[in-house]
Amino acid sequence: MKHTQMNEITVKAYAKINLTLDVTGRLPNGYHTVKMVMQSVDLHDDLHLRRGGGMGIRMKSNIRFLPSDEGNLAVRAARLFLEQTGLPDDGVDIDLFKRIPVAAGMAGGSSNAAAVLRGMNQLYGAGLSAAELREIGLAIGADVPYCIEGGSMLAEGIGEVLTPLPPMPACHVVACKPPFSVVTAKVYARMNGGKLAIRPDTRGMLQALEAQDYGGVCHRLYNVMEMVTGSDYAEIGEIKDTMLDHGADGAIMSGSGPTVFGLFASEENAKDAAAALQGRFSETFITHIRNEKNQV
Ligand code: ATP
Repeated sequence: MKHTQMNEITVKAYAKINLTLDVTGRLPNGYHTVKMVMQSVDLHDDLHLRRGGGMGIRMKSNIRFLPSDEGNLAVRAARLFLEQTGLPDDGVDIDLFKRIPVAAGMAGGSSNAAAVLRGMNQLYGAGLSAAELREIGLAIGADVPYCIEGGSMLAEGIGEVLTPLPPMPACHVVACKPPFSVVTAKVYARMNGGKLAIRPDTRGMLQALEAQDYGGVCHRLYNVMEMVTGSDYAEIGEIKDTMLDHGADGAIMSGSGPTVFGLFASEENAKDAAAALQGRFSETFITHIRNEKNQV
């Protein structure tokens, strides 16, 4: 689809949760190899992109402490898109409205970068394929290729080798970010190069998705990084326990944390769990599984 006349567009950048997260090894360049089942949720940021305002990339957002220069992954994505496509820079204004908690393990920054790539592809009528956008995205971060696609995906390699999976059965998701942030690289550094005693049953998770077995998915939620972040911060275990006490069918930490999410078949239980957490943790959200693929 070409939109050559367009000069502005609003794109949604969806958050992800990890149904499983395994670290399988470390490459000579220091990157870790992973095996993770990624799942989009409805919680999203909005990015309004407008072209034609002169030259250069300008950005503003509703979060004061986020960088608005090259330190912002959305800006980096816009610059790389222009460089890689060779399209002329006639000015891009990015207006970001964030809802996804920052530095939380929900791929907020990666998802913003992916949304800018998808949005600019449409805005400039560039016609790049999803595979081409994924390749540009990988230069920004290992989770960006997944965020181009969205939905349910197995991510391997450093996160860029993607296999589409059957949709995750619908359910309510409560996500709760305690008020501290973790540095992903530091968590990886403590993973012992992927030599771990306990690992997720990734194959079982794939079978549960294949069978649309919601209970099977909930029983196999597992994140190897929870051992590291959870041992540093008691809040991780406390949030999990609160969710499970209020009827979560399963609860784990997402990504390198510190966000913990719970899956709920019952809307009432999800609301009760969120209410129990909200007083103590203001960044508590009720959201839902999102299986639709993103448009490129
Ligand atoms: P992941 O799950 O991929 O590890 P995350 O949720 O842990 O991601 P992000 O929210 O992507 O972490 O942010 C990580 C860092 O990136 C933050 O310290 C933040 O300052 C920086 N950053 C740059 N651009 C953005 C953006 N558009 N949104 C959020 N954070 C950004």
